[in-house]
Amino acid sequence: MALIVTGTIGIDTLHAPTGSAERVLGGSCSYFAAAASHLVPVRVVGAVGGDFPAEHASLLGSFKGVCLKGLERRPASRTFAWGGRYLDDMNRRETLFTELGVLEEAPPKVPADYRDSRFVFLGNTHPSVQMDLLNQFPDRELAVCDTMDLWINVARPELLALLAKVDGVVLNDQEAMQLTEARNARAILDLGPRFVVVKKGEHGAILAHREGVATIPAFPADAAQVVDPTGAGDTFAGGLMAHVARTGRGDLATVQQGMAWGTVMASFTIEAFGLDRLARLDARQIDERMRRFQTAAKVG
Ligand code: AMP
Repeated sequence: MALIVTGTIGIDTLHAPTGSAERVLGGSCSYFAAAASHLVPVRVVGAVGGDFPAEHASLLGSFKGVCLKGLERRPASRTFAWGGRYLDDMNRRETLFTELGVLEEAPPKVPADYRDSRFVFLGNTHPSVQMDLLNQFPDRELAVCDTMDLWINVARPELLALLAKVDGVVLNDQEAMQLTEARNARAILDLGPRFVVVKKGEHGAILAHREGVATIPAFPADAAQVVDPTGAGDTFAGGLMAHVARTGRGDLATVQQGMAWGTVMASFTIEAFGLDRLARLDARQIDERMRRFQTAAKVG
């Protein structure tokens, strides 16, 4: 069943102890769509400016399952741009700059033939843009959102309104703390969603809901070489939602299985800068890594 995503389609400049990458294709929506497209077709809703390089559009379009009918080009605007630097252990990063560009304008339009989308992912962007997309899918099966420090700081009321309406939220440890000031995923459930997935980096992820908590380990560290962690969170969400959409069910057991697919997809992303690793990935490699993960982690 059809999967739709909105979020940022941006130009990233990355610095890590392993090297640097200047003005490469990035953004929450790009990573999510690239990862999900390996498992299920995915519809993209986003906007870029006149400075968006043609090769970035071709790279995104080169992922076979990605539909770009909802990618709006605004010649007089600037593309979202972000710069980040990883500290020595690669677990911590600092944001060097964020240029919002098109994010400060009207939300992108949803093409009429995307209306039958049943699975909605609201990748990182302004919560008002996330809400705008959500409101256009009243008959959805499942809606899940992501968020990050910037939006928790500058758009908390809009974010709280969004959390009251989504089924699930995916966020990392620090964001969960920042959002609720409690080290407890259950505090987020009190804000509205029926489940929360908290990503804990090298310690895996947890799924919390009103009936309980499930944990999933990270991919074995010796098996995936970390070159650039950018987009790990978005590709985790992409794998998770793609599994849920292709299964056609939004129940918690399916979400939990989806976390394993998310973990496997993220393990590829971090092996190269930008979308490079996802661009040269095939079904055989994904299945092989999933088998390896199931054996190592004893997850099914
Ligand atoms: P992740 O490493 O999963 O947190 O995602 C990194 C991606 O998110 C990069 O490609 C950035 O372009 C994008 N990004 C960074 N800051 C923001 C923001 N405030 N809103 C939306 N996307 C962002």
